[in-house]
Amino acid sequence: MRLAELDASALTFAMDFLRANSKRVQGVSVPDEDFISAHDKHVIVIGGGDTGSDCIGTSNRHGAKSITQIEILDKPPEKEDKGLTWPNWPNKLRTSSSQEEGCDRHWNVLTKSFEHDGEGNVSALNYVLVRWDKDEDGRWQMSEVPGSEAQFKADLVLLAMGFVHPVHEGMLAELKEAKGLELDARGNVKGSTEGPKAYYTNVDGVFAAGDMRRGQSLVVWAIREGRQCARAVDEWLMGSSDLPR
Ligand SMILES: Cc1cc2nc3c(=O)[nH]c(=O)nc-3n(C[C@H](O)[C@H](O)[C@H](O)COP(=O)(O)OP(=O)(O)OC[C@H]3O[C@@H](n4cnc5c(N)ncnc54)[C@H](O)[C@@H]3O)c2cc1C
Repeated sequence: MRLAELDASALTFAMDFLRANSKRVQGVSVPDEDFISAHDKHVIVIGGGDTGSDCIGTSNRHGAKSITQIEILDKPPEKEDKGLTWPNWPNKLRTSSSQEEGCDRHWNVLTKSFEHDGEGNVSALNYVLVRWDKDEDGRWQMSEVPGSEAQFKADLVLLAMGFVHPVHEGMLAELKEAKGLELDARGNVKGSTEGPKAYYTNVDGVFAAGDMRRGQSLVVWAIREGRQCARAVDEWLMGSSDLPR
């Protein structure tokens, strides 16, 4: 059975799971076929970021039987090494409020395949442990640990492995094709945050800020860029601006 043949309510993108849940919480009607419940299920969340945390919190509220979160990277150190990282954001183990509410966390886990019951239901996730070592050029290389193959029981697998770039469809695709809107090497809309053309794109009258410009990021960056971009737009329209930067 190929992945596509597994039932969407057994192996699904985190955003489909979260979006439907949020709508119901807000009182918006969601047809049962679009709502994925974690109730009484062994849930596996693939990905150790904020989206994964939201999946854990939601699964706990649905009444999941067990929740396991797997991450491909090494477990970060419990204490940061400030001497090495300052002034950058230090790499250290963080535990979200959702993770505190209950889940098993595993690191260095690479998903290899899924088991199913023949009727579209996933029943287990097969994995192998990996290690990360630097090669002679200082680049991190991943390798599988021989003999570490194992399995997690799974009734629901949520894919929360990160976002690559804004989706190139709708207005973005139109701007790209009709106006030649430039993207950066990672597929985000190209634009800088400094200088007289901060937040400008290469298309006159089109500005970009937040996730669209910097890629999947954090709310604090979206607020900062949104405010600064508003000022850039005001200046472009009026010739000057009183808005803060
Ligand atoms: C599941 C999940 C969990 C997250 N958890 C955290 C967290 O815990 N902490 C944190 O800091 N960040 C978190 N983030 C990231 C954070 O949500 C984003 O970085 C932030 O929302 C980006 O803001 P934005 O304004 O750039 O884009 P968005 O919030 O995506 O806003 C873009 C808006 O544009 C609208 N839009 C799209 N197309 C058009 C159009 N053609 N015309 C008009 N409007 C349009 C969209 O509907 C949307 O409302 C999370 C993200 C996700 C997906």
